Amino acid sequence: MELMKNTPTLPLVIANWKLHPASLAEAKSLFVDIRNAVRRHDNVTVVVAPPYPFLSDLARLSPSGRVPIAAQDVWSEATGAETGEVSVPMVVSCGAQYMIVGHSERRARGEDNALVAAKTKAVLAAKQTAVVCVGETERDESGNFYSVVEQQVLAVLAVCSRTSISRLVIAYEPVWAIGSGETPTAQDIQEMRLFIEKCIAENMNRSAAKKVQILYGGSVNDKNAEQLFVDGAVDGFLVGGASLKPAMFGGIVKTLQKITTQS
Ligand code: PEP
Repeated sequence: MELMKNTPTLPLVIANWKLHPASLAEAKSLFVDIRNAVRRHDNVTVVVAPPYPFLSDLARLSPSGRVPIAAQDVWSEATGAETGEVSVPMVVSCGAQYMIVGHSERRARGEDNALVAAKTKAVLAAKQTAVVCVGETERDESGNFYSVVEQQVLAVLAVCSRTSISRLVIAYEPVWAIGSGETPTAQDIQEMRLFIEKCIAENMNRSAAKKVQILYGGSVNDKNAEQLFVDGAVDGFLVGGASLKPAMFGGIVKTLQKITTQS
């Protein structure tokens, strides 16, 4: 299958703040710094995923939707006896347009492919964008990690339709690369991108495969972004640690802006 490098939609960079920062005041200040750092980069879609309590306030800081807001997770049901959970309609009512599901830090707490698929289904049914994280915990020499990723992708494809697939984003995040300072080679990332596309094309069709943006996540910074984006042939990044540093995060976005503007 030929490489469908950097899909026609704008590159997507998502800031996953995880359990940071500690207060609403700091979250607002970080958001404004990030918004300023990416101000002129309109060839890149930049999304910020703060902790739940900050969603509404940050959405209000971006009234034009210039920097859309994402939830870091959602529950699969809209309402019910689910203490501590947060539903898709709730985060949508707070201004979120993107929802991350299946992050490895959730999967590590027991979230399986079936639950990730149910969450994805809820996001797509609400006509929002689901950013589904997939990735192996370790790379074995015989390539078994491909079947781990395949099972994760297939579970989610089972809840996608021909129309909702365009609101699916897959973030390939090898668990061992998250927060470790290590990354796969750009060639490894490109191969995984092709593999994920092939899974979609074989289980849905080729046009569906073209509609899904495939991101890379795991120790992306302003130094490695260019190589990972160009040679990894991904459609953008899911960024953890570096998204808490506005200058570094701005550098990542600037790199993608420069590349997209040149091509
Ligand atoms: C993440 O947690 O999704 C992530 C990619 O983290 P980091 O960029 O810090 O590796």
